[in-house]
Amino acid sequence: VIEVDNVTTAFHGHVVHRHLHLTVMPGEVLALIGGSGSGKTTLLRLLLGLEVPQAGTVKIFGHPLGRCAQRDLERVRYRWGVLFQNGALFSALSVFDNIALPLRELGSVPRDLITPLVMLKLAQVGLQPEDALKRPAELSGGMVKRVSLARALILDPPLLFLDEPTAGLDPDSSKQFVKLLRRLRQELGLTVVMVTHDVDTLFAVVDRVAVLADQHILACGPLAEVARLPHPFVRNFFLGHVE
Ligand code: ATP
Repeated sequence: VIEVDNVTTAFHGHVVHRHLHLTVMPGEVLALIGGSGSGKTTLLRLLLGLEVPQAGTVKIFGHPLGRCAQRDLERVRYRWGVLFQNGALFSALSVFDNIALPLRELGSVPRDLITPLVMLKLAQVGLQPEDALKRPAELSGGMVKRVSLARALILDPPLLFLDEPTAGLDPDSSKQFVKLLRRLRQELGLTVVMVTHDVDTLFAVVDRVAVLADQHILACGPLAEVARLPHPFVRNFFLGHVE
């Protein structure tokens, strides 16, 4: 589904990635882990075409990604499901209008379809019909994430990109949200790429893990294998979670 081939990324001469290779298979959940500043978010942005590599190519469904103008950003977010930390809901809009936004902006969805589509997504993410009228400020952190997820999935994207999906949630909401992701991934046949620091999330939902360190992908493989690597970052990351 996604192929990263020999990608090098740099900002003002500061190299973030060097000769990265990564393949994401259909239907899998792949997690990117790595220390702060190791380039996880930048890699997600590369996969979305929001950053352009210095060298190498990124292909999605076989198509090489080109440069993405800033004004296309929203379209990219909607085409591929994107749940970024800064992808906040619009506080002046109701839950319904937040979720409906991509449908309305697309312009080609018949008006009388918008309500059933939004209500279906609301139910899929485990929210009640009466939540549709609430404003984001009236929601708990877990509910905000669910609404953001409903909006990310409203156009039925085949791919979902998540940046720290459980950040800022208490352990219980976090667990619930991961459970939801697992169910949706199965129901919708999504391919998911996520950045996470949360080991519980990894063990609950992820198929493979790619470790970013020293400008490279240090390893990419099944969680159980990666968790046993004798690298200081990996050891520290999984401390107390693998024997
Ligand atoms: P964290 O876990 O702290 O979020 P990360 O692994 O996601 O970190 P990135 O946000 O991808 O790391 O950043 C990698 C490096 O690239 C950092 O040194 C950052 O300062 C730099 N960087 C990222 N985006 C830009 C940009 N637009 N301009 C300049 N430098 C950038």
